[in-house]
Amino acid sequence: IFDKTLGQHILKNPLVAQGIVDKAGVKATDIVLEVGPGTGNLTVKILEKAKKTTVVEMDPRLAAELTKRVQGTPEQRKLDIILGDFLKVDLPYFDVCISNTPYQISSPLVFKLLAHRPLWRCAVLMFQREFALRLTAKPGDALYCRLSANVQLLAKVDHVMKVGRNNFRPPPQVESSVVRIEPRQPPPPVDFNEWDGLLRVLFVRKNKTCAANFKTQTILDLLEHNYKTYCSLRGMDVPMEFDCKAAVLAVLDSVGMSEMRASKMDNDDFLKLLSAFVDAGFRFT
Ligand code: SAM
Repeated sequence: IFDKTLGQHILKNPLVAQGIVDKAGVKATDIVLEVGPGTGNLTVKILEKAKKTTVVEMDPRLAAELTKRVQGTPEQRKLDIILGDFLKVDLPYFDVCISNTPYQISSPLVFKLLAHRPLWRCAVLMFQREFALRLTAKPGDALYCRLSANVQLLAKVDHVMKVGRNNFRPPPQVESSVVRIEPRQPPPPVDFNEWDGLLRVLFVRKNKTCAANFKTQTILDLLEHNYKTYCSLRGMDVPMEFDCKAAVLAVLDSVGMSEMRASKMDNDDFLKLLSAFVDAGFRFT
């Protein structure tokens, strides 16, 4: 009955469902967004607290089941169901997002939420354990990666509880965890695409030095190409003997980061390095 391709693992433990809703601190005036309500075990608990709840469900059978579940209750008029793929629909305004997410869309789901405007207050989301640990990892942690740095640039992320497989029907292959995400307000004044471009270079081999990662020919070619575009857009001459590699290494040296490794660098380090590259005329996108 459950569609595995849609990650349909129903949360059957009501205490866990209540715990998730409680962690979100929903107020009586809040509009809540839920992704993938399934049969509505979280939804009914959200409806008790929120002014309005919008759910996005891709499976018409489950959407129908949820409609039936609230029919004839006072909560019925507080629920809006959007039938469709969360990654494709236009999201309405919301204050809080709560979801036992379909794990196969974890990463795009987080970034779609963080790109949404106006920004919301908080999101309490269930993920596969390892993904949750990546989201919350700090420099030096084994699971620290580009995802950790990217999400933590835009938000404060906390691990709030572990949830074992037996709390779901059918039980998934993996353990799960709930995280709480609070967007930074206002968002950091940095071009996210440039930021991500720099991190892609540094995290290709996160334990190699910055200098070693930048010495890759494909990366130098890209930077040189972008540098020349940047110069011509500004009507500047590209120096005849432009030595891209030397220029890149000079930027790394100027901030003392040639020998540093991404696995141990924090977001202040990345911001400092990005602005040194930008000041020197380099672009990553
Ligand atoms: N929230 C329910 C619960 O906790 O019992 C069900 C959670 S189940 C892990 C994931 C739900 O997301 C399923 O109902 C599935 O049909 C739905 N889903 C999967 N992919 C989706 C997508 N791209 N957009 C919207 N819903 C999706």
